[in-house]
Amino acid sequence: MSQIPTRVAPGVHRIGDDIVNFYLVEAEDCLVMVDAGLPSHSRRLLDALAHLEDRLCAVVLTHAHPDHVGLAETVRARTGAQVWVHEADAQALDEGQPGVMHHLQPECRVLPYLMRRPSALRPMMLRGFAGALMSPMVREYRSFGHDQILREVPGRPRVLSVPGHTPGSTVVVFDDRAVAFTGDALVTYDCSTGHRGPCVVSRAFTQDSEQALESLEQVAELPDETLMLPGHGAPFAEKPRIAVLRARATGVR
Ligand SMILES: [Zn+2]
Repeated sequence: MSQIPTRVAPGVHRIGDDIVNFYLVEAEDCLVMVDAGLPSHSRRLLDALAHLEDRLCAVVLTHAHPDHVGLAETVRARTGAQVWVHEADAQALDEGQPGVMHHLQPECRVLPYLMRRPSALRPMMLRGFAGALMSPMVREYRSFGHDQILREVPGRPRVLSVPGHTPGSTVVVFDDRAVAFTGDALVTYDCSTGHRGPCVVSRAFTQDSEQALESLEQVAELPDETLMLPGHGAPFAEKPRIAVLRARATGVR
């Protein structure tokens, strides 16, 4: 049975599942994909593209972790859509095992983390089964720097630099429809801790948690009416600065 993507804002559709979100934005007779899910999401993406009947023009990545890059190379090769990533994360896309993207190292080693928090094992295994360890490297991409407007991408999204989760973590803002894709800089569900509500991602998957909390200042400055669409968890419709207050109160785990 084909799966219809969930409309979360005017012209914005969520694909994905409990593991990870990615999104399609209708802009200028094109579709812009924000993040690229996991290799196992290809059926869902094909269904969504068939349902929306538009061609895919660009893929903007919030960061270069494999659960957000999974289908980027596949759609680039098939549709010619340009893939965009922050220059500080670009290396992770093309370094690594032949054909498989490089995995950025978190600040906390995974094994000791799992010994303290065994409940994190299941979500990690689910990501693995969904193809996270086999996300293909991206053979061609464009990179962007700090805080600029991507004028060549339909809808002209604004990219805000929020380093911490990864050095090139980015919030992608479409001002015309007041939505901000926060990637893993701010999520509303952290599957490794089970925490629901705005937070930064656990240390087992984050490179610099203190920096991640500091970077949330960029999110706090977004207009009050902005709908936040995270890489993991449900949309957050309260004011961005409320989300940031809650994330800082939750702190680092
Ligand atoms: Zn993620």
